[in-house]
Amino acid sequence: MLFVVRTLSIFSLSFFVLFARASPFPTEEETNAWFKQYAHSLTDSQTYRLLQQFPKGGDLHHHLSGSAYGKWWYELATNQILNGGYRYFTKIDNGECVSAPSFHTISNATYSTLTKCEQKQYKALGELSQDQKRAFIHSVELDKPEEGRDEFFGFHWQRLNELTQNPYIIAQVLLKNMQLYQLENMRYLETQLNIRFMKRADGSNFPADEALQIVTDMLESEAAKETGITVRFQYALVRFTNNIEEQLDWIFKFVDANRKWYVGVNLVGREDDPRGHPLRFLSSITKLRAQYPAIRLSFHAGESEHADTNIRDTLLLGAERIGHGINLLKDPSTYLLMRHNRYLIETNLISNLKLEYIEDLSTHPFPQLLRTGVPTALSTDDRGMWNATLTDEYYLAFTQFNLSWSELVTLSQNSIKYGFLQDEKKEQLLAQLNKDLAKFLASLVARDNQTPKSSEPLPLNSNTKLYSGFICEFAPTVCQQ
Ligand SMILES: [Zn+2]
Repeated sequence: MLFVVRTLSIFSLSFFVLFARASPFPTEEETNAWFKQYAHSLTDSQTYRLLQQFPKGGDLHHHLSGSAYGKWWYELATNQILNGGYRYFTKIDNGECVSAPSFHTISNATYSTLTKCEQKQYKALGELSQDQKRAFIHSVELDKPEEGRDEFFGFHWQRLNELTQNPYIIAQVLLKNMQLYQLENMRYLETQLNIRFMKRADGSNFPADEALQIVTDMLESEAAKETGITVRFQYALVRFTNNIEEQLDWIFKFVDANRKWYVGVNLVGREDDPRGHPLRFLSSITKLRAQYPAIRLSFHAGESEHADTNIRDTLLLGAERIGHGINLLKDPSTYLLMRHNRYLIETNLISNLKLEYIEDLSTHPFPQLLRTGVPTALSTDDRGMWNATLTDEYYLAFTQFNLSWSELVTLSQNSIKYGFLQDEKKEQLLAQLNKDLAKFLASLVARDNQTPKSSEPLPLNSNTKLYSGFICEFAPTVCQQ
């Protein structure tokens, strides 16, 4: 009870109370007015770098195996010191024997079981030509105009294949994410990590506990601690698989046994497959809820351009957070229920664009949610596959929807407030975030007051230039200046 009271008291503090002592302005309105004129004086590149350094709280919607850029996969798959000694082969030849897509990647253990004819279609990843290497890297990123939802769901995961079953690679992908988030001034990552079907280099199964240990050992390393990022996991279930009951039983038991790291369960996968309808899970989840102390749920729902009742049905399962929620406004009674309530929508602008759930950002419900009291936060979904960053999400939101300073702060705070991490740690991260935000604002004001004006408006890490492939294509002026 004590935790609940304490948490509520944090949630009820307004923006201005949090900043009153540290803010150089007497009112929230004056802060917003100053920030508006300040932001208008910046070039696109300066705006981007301001948002890169803006203290961003957390990323609550993050698939670990979708978060690695093509170049990370290549680097880790070909580096046997980092990847636990595994060797990988990828399909480069469209011969008759194997029908898998190009760049379907397999471990040495699987390769050794193939026929001579099948083996001929594969090549060791480390032996690819420069052109083949480039093509491999692009094959797991949605970077061509003709690529969309079907390429992403139908081919990307098939290509990565056994790379996602190596816990050493997954641990390194997590570390690289943490290092990049540190440069983006982010503090909390709640990522989806599935650990049950990992394989050893000889092809045998890794017990889940041992595989998890490899990842958590990395989190205890100096390199991980240096990033200052707090990490927690969700376990994700693909919604249209067949043996749902057995899988959910296993997942709840595993999450319950590993509560230090696992703080929730997710339901993922495209919603246009009727086998994945939310209510299919109702009796299983109700039964599991009777067996285990509360396990928190953040489920994908409403990731669709069509009206349906999936968000309402997902709340009925007991979910507290909704991944995407793009079609919420097409279900008016559920929209009304979510206003000023405790359920958060995890907004992923770039994912929704790339997978063509929205035609362009002007049709996205995000500003309507943000400005009518539906809690929301910005997150990255499968950012490696869009070659994008969390800063890109903020840049899109800020430039397309004219966000105020207060709205930026709300988004950042929400991404920790609505995290599933333990209450004590959450309070600590929120307190630190609020200090960082106040300090950041004060440093912008100090910089603005300098005469003559500095051409570099940013006080922190200003030598870091991090431009993603996505942002250079979406807003070329950001990268040109
Ligand atoms: Zn997702």
